[in-house]
Amino acid sequence: MDSQAYIPGMKPVEPGPLARFTPPLEEGVISAWLPSHTSAGSWVLDPFGFSPRLALEAARAGYRVLVTVNNPITRFQLEMSARSPSETDFKAALADLAASKKGEERLGAHLQSLYLTPCEKCGNEIYADSFLWRKGEEAPYARIYTCPHCEDSGEREANPLDIERAKKIAATDNLHRSRAFERVAALEDEDRVYAEEAIEHYLPRPLYFLTTVINRIDSLNLTPERRRALNALILVACDAGNTLWDHPTQRRRPKQLNIPNQFREHNLWTQLERGLSRWTETSSGVVMEPWPKQPAESGGICLFEGRLKDLAEEVKKEIPIKAVIGSLPRPNQAFWTLSALWAGWLWGREAVEPYKPALRRRRYDWAWNATALKAAFTHLFDMLHLGTPFFALLFEPEPSSLTAALTAAGAAGLDLTSAALRTQHDPIQLFWTSGEHLKRQPNPADIEDVRKEIAAHLIERGEPASYLHVHAAGLIALAKSHALKQKDQEFDEALRETHSLIQTALEEDPRFVHFSGGESLDTGLWGLQSNVTLPKEHRDDVSEATLATGAPRPGGSVPGSAGEGLSDNDGDSSVMAQKAPLSHIVPASPLRGENDMKESLSDRVEVAVVTFLQKHPNSIFLEIEQDLYPRLPGLLTPSQAMIYAVLSSYANRESGAWKLRAEDLASARRDELNHIAGLVETIGRRLGYTTRRQDKNYLWEQNGALERTFYILASALVGRALAETPYPSGQTVIVIPGGRAALAAYKIQRDPSLAAHIKTVQVVKYRLLRTLVELPVLTRETFEEQVAGDPLEKSKSQMIMF
Ligand SMILES: [Zn+2]
Repeated sequence: MDSQAYIPGMKPVEPGPLARFTPPLEEGVISAWLPSHTSAGSWVLDPFGFSPRLALEAARAGYRVLVTVNNPITRFQLEMSARSPSETDFKAALADLAASKKGEERLGAHLQSLYLTPCEKCGNEIYADSFLWRKGEEAPYARIYTCPHCEDSGEREANPLDIERAKKIAATDNLHRSRAFERVAALEDEDRVYAEEAIEHYLPRPLYFLTTVINRIDSLNLTPERRRALNALILVACDAGNTLWDHPTQRRRPKQLNIPNQFREHNLWTQLERGLSRWTETSSGVVMEPWPKQPAESGGICLFEGRLKDLAEEVKKEIPIKAVIGSLPRPNQAFWTLSALWAGWLWGREAVEPYKPALRRRRYDWAWNATALKAAFTHLFDMLHLGTPFFALLFEPEPSSLTAALTAAGAAGLDLTSAALRTQHDPIQLFWTSGEHLKRQPNPADIEDVRKEIAAHLIERGEPASYLHVHAAGLIALAKSHALKQKDQEFDEALRETHSLIQTALEEDPRFVHFSGGESLDTGLWGLQSNVTLPKEHRDDVSEATLATGAPRPGGSVPGSAGEGLSDNDGDSSVMAQKAPLSHIVPASPLRGENDMKESLSDRVEVAVVTFLQKHPNSIFLEIEQDLYPRLPGLLTPSQAMIYAVLSSYANRESGAWKLRAEDLASARRDELNHIAGLVETIGRRLGYTTRRQDKNYLWEQNGALERTFYILASALVGRALAETPYPSGQTVIVIPGGRAALAAYKIQRDPSLAAHIKTVQVVKYRLLRTLVELPVLTRETFEEQVAGDPLEKSKSQMIMF
């Protein structure tokens, strides 16, 4: 299986409405993938319609995108993001609502007055931004506001008037609550109880606000466009009005309808007003047609409202699907239940009907997910020609969701061609093609295949990996040999068996080491005992695969990196070095045999990023990723935090572009290395040692006996330094520039294996040698004390995780 490179994108500037429920995807990914698989103008299918952003981006890139959407809220979101009403329409709709009458009062003023609170400092009546509640209590305990009169701002204890107001609204709650049910389910409807339970997640005030507004829409006489605009604003308020806003925020992306112990009640009038910019800023001006009306060849969306099953036959006859894209559905009981509720509020009971099962179901497990995915993939498979590419994004990945997705796809006849995984916080990119129309039976699973694939990944990575990474490697082995378990509709047991197979492969093999606080297998990191010997035939697989993808060769470094960016230990074998040929700088280590681990991923990232910036100064982060990811494809994809750690050590950013610091240009570093090597010799001489250079190490000797060795780095390639120092660790000193200390500390902190190795040697900064050489009296004791007292941890390290 070829490893494909992770396709990087940009975080959207404006996350858009309902962002906490929509897949967190980067922009620019799908438009980067599509052109290499099919030409603009051709038909692309998004069978899940799970991420409005994805379909819109494909349409904007000039493709005709057929989208099926089952969730009425997601459908509305897609329509709105394709073409939102004008700002004028939004403003007019909101003004009409505000101006309508509630008794003698204007409705806008009435609704705003629900949030009045006295300023604690100046006593003026002002509008609260939000109230804070504890679960189960009858009144808020605090409010958050910014006073326009005296500028007092922040969280303040609730005032007796706040409590009184909350209780007053609660007194009429029953009436509004039953109105709210009725729009979702009729009195005699057996699903009514589920609607009631869902509505429990609204406090009396927001429920009063929302039902008042919703009951008013019909009498406003709005144009269809303004009605749409108002619906969109109300939807934002519907989401802001429930109790799923924990305070302080921990659950940014809720999955279950649970009332947090402390939560925030937003001022919904403010939310209506803010909703405007959230919709208009994400509008993309894409043409959208309802199925079967087709958009022009220049690109657009064709929306099929309903299930893929119902579309499959028609598409087969009429539409040549050239590629499939999709954000894989991830069960979200909170969003799915609320979607049914909101659809009822905005469009009435009929709109809820097809989506009603979402109200009923409480628990979604991965077996349910696998079953649903398999059904969808099977209909999808029927619509595709042999070899149609399918690019899927699995957001918020976890071992179980990946198992479910790969098992379901395999069972439906989709062949996995590659998987690219960055971190558990980024979507996994999955590449499938539709396979032969065969009746498939899974092959028996071979635990040795799983072990080989995991070991091969860890060797290639050169450092421990998260459980998700090793799990993915195991799944890929099983997917390749069509051995992912599937038992018709009983995915429960099949998924369990796959997990236990992978975990047994890890647990019962002494080559694998689990770095963790003794918790379960799927936490912490997994690595290899340092010297792994693979059978000969598998080694060949590894090198072939890596050569084909342009990834590093065994024992070497990133191609094209031959020291241009990093000039560690530049020089020949005399201390006062001349410039050495570049090929001397990054040779295959004599200590790193072909059976051994590759150079660590973090060291390779450092070399590659610096080399790239050396050649391409003023690059933006995305360009750095675009260069780096193809060098480290598939499961090797480095995290963005790692790239940032390298960049902040070596480069400055000016208006978005990164440039190496003057002192980090290769020539400057080379001069400094020579200078430090000179200091090592000078200090040695004062202490009565002779200095000799052996390969990359500077040795202090006395009467032919080795006393100390120094490995001088211009970089933070501490893993490489350790590998290239063949001397007893107690005598070894690694010298790094102070500017690299934070990067070295970052690497050590994320790699427990490196942390254990580095403890056995001494690491000092250039500055220490400069200080020592200035001392008027320097003894061997002073030297030992000073070297021991310059730990890396003392450096101002930015603690970046992952
Ligand atoms: Zn005030």
